[in-house]
Amino acid sequence: MRRKHILVLIVSILLITAALTLTACKRDDAATGESRAEYVIELAVREGFDEAYLTEEVTFCNATGARLTELVFCLYPNAYGEGAEDSAYFADMLKTNKEFGGIDISNVKSDGEERAFDISGIWLTVPLGEGLDEGESVTLKLGARIDLPSGTLRFGGNDKTVRLVNFYPVLACYGDSGWERNRYSRIGDPFHTWSASYDVTVSAPENISIATSGRLISSTVDKGIKTVKAALDEGRDFAAVLSTDYSLYEASLGDVKVNYYSSSGDDKASFTAEALGIMSEYIGDFPYPKFTVCESPFYYGGMEYPGLVIVNDALGGAEKEKVIVHEIIHQWIGCAVGSDGVNESWVDESLTTYLTAYYFKLKGDEAAFRAEVDNCERQFAAFLMTEKLSSPGYVPSMNRSVYEFSTLNEYDAVVYRRGCAMYASLTELAGEKKMREAVREYYSRYKYLNATGEDLVSCFEDVMGEKARTVIYSYLNADVKCGFVAA
Ligand SMILES: [Zn+2]
Repeated sequence: MRRKHILVLIVSILLITAALTLTACKRDDAATGESRAEYVIELAVREGFDEAYLTEEVTFCNATGARLTELVFCLYPNAYGEGAEDSAYFADMLKTNKEFGGIDISNVKSDGEERAFDISGIWLTVPLGEGLDEGESVTLKLGARIDLPSGTLRFGGNDKTVRLVNFYPVLACYGDSGWERNRYSRIGDPFHTWSASYDVTVSAPENISIATSGRLISSTVDKGIKTVKAALDEGRDFAAVLSTDYSLYEASLGDVKVNYYSSSGDDKASFTAEALGIMSEYIGDFPYPKFTVCESPFYYGGMEYPGLVIVNDALGGAEKEKVIVHEIIHQWIGCAVGSDGVNESWVDESLTTYLTAYYFKLKGDEAAFRAEVDNCERQFAAFLMTEKLSSPGYVPSMNRSVYEFSTLNEYDAVVYRRGCAMYASLTELAGEKKMREAVREYYSRYKYLNATGEDLVSCFEDVMGEKARTVIYSYLNADVKCGFVAA
């Protein structure tokens, strides 16, 4: 009897040290239909912007409907590594780029115990032992060193301005086929994430401006180090931009604070607040407590993150304003209402591009709205004509994954320009009142959730009737106007 007791005790101790502590999910996290996580991140950025150190505590609530045996995180910094399999860099950049990036995970812990983990490319897999049931949550703590790359792509920068975006291990989505291990793509925004809550602390030398997503909790300086704490609820992502060159301009729209960080001396804070107001009136209340715009050297015109966007500092007045408006609209379409940027990028980009044109009409400039739509149609037509010369059978389907577009030009013409024309047709058919009703319904129905393309089509169909489905599908799968048949 005694020996047996000792044996049971030893086995129990082994199980306790090997098993993860699983607890029931807090609040109604599991009831939202999407898994939720809470991230507590601390990031220390070194002077010169070449390196940063990260600790991340993530509590994951399983609402996938499945028993999970592992958690999968995306390590996007590894797409910036030298020799990365699916590199973030275009071929010409690879030849001239000075510093490459990456994230080196030093440990993964739970309950103070080191856990086994596996890194393959841009994915970190952490086995969960006996599994995590629906409605259960688990907490992991990760430590990492991050190499900040040079260049003008999303992540990284130079010694004056660094964009800390997609910089931390973020949970992949879990879909019908399990964890989504989506390859990185130079074309499109290859991201698909759940909403989560963020509690983030960023520290850097005191001469550096620290702009972040979310609301500011505190900003202090001690022994030459500035520490900024920020929090974001229902954020699909968290971003920060650090710069030695920033001037901060402020404005507000009701309770929403607007911060405009300029490196060019151009103050667009009031313009941004006014545009926020116009689009809030059209779509619904702004989804976050604060909105931050950061100018930066940038390969793209702009890029959206929840509550923070990046705008290319080389853009001129009207062009810069248009990019700001596009990224503002993404706060509702793409950020608050999420979608699969890898397989269904049209879901947020097409509607955002159309609404960017429509913004001019809401501002009272009908001619500018018409010009924007005409421009989109012309640009798509020009692209198609050229494409058809070399590939007569080409079908400009919008409903493709980012991997299925050959060039940025094709992606832009089909998803953005043709997508804008699709909503212009739909508005012509259903009327502006119904269009607004459909957009508002889409936002209120899927706020802080992920919507699929079918969710969007069903929502528009509910408001506009069957014609919405017919019009959208004709554009998604083929070019009806040009007489092509769907592939
Ligand atoms: Zn966009």
